[in-house]
Amino acid sequence: MTVARLDPRLIHAGMSITTVQLARLWAEHTPPAKPVPLRCPTCGHAWDETAPLCPTAAVVRPLLRKRRHEAGAHVIARLTDNQLDDLTGKKLSTALPPRKDFA
Ligand SMILES: [Zn+2]
Repeated sequence: MTVARLDPRLIHAGMSITTVQLARLWAEHTPPAKPVPLRCPTCGHAWDETAPLCPTAAVVRPLLRKRRHEAGAHVIARLTDNQLDDLTGKKLSTALPPRKDFA
């Protein structure tokens, strides 16, 4: 099983990351719609109740939540309804119930 790692784009951008880059990373590391797949399509992280965010999404989420108003409506409009709910809501769509196949 592969271990999900931080997206290299996040590491290279560092503190100078833009809201456009954050929104793109969020869109690529969160499911566009329900039902959500079992894994992050970009890094392969297995989503579940205890780890509903992959490493990249876990770093991006608090930054993008704080900065989404400076991003401009056109940037946020690129996110799907599910990605926007996961960004701003309390319950993540990826908090899947425990599965026996990924112990
Ligand atoms: Zn991911």
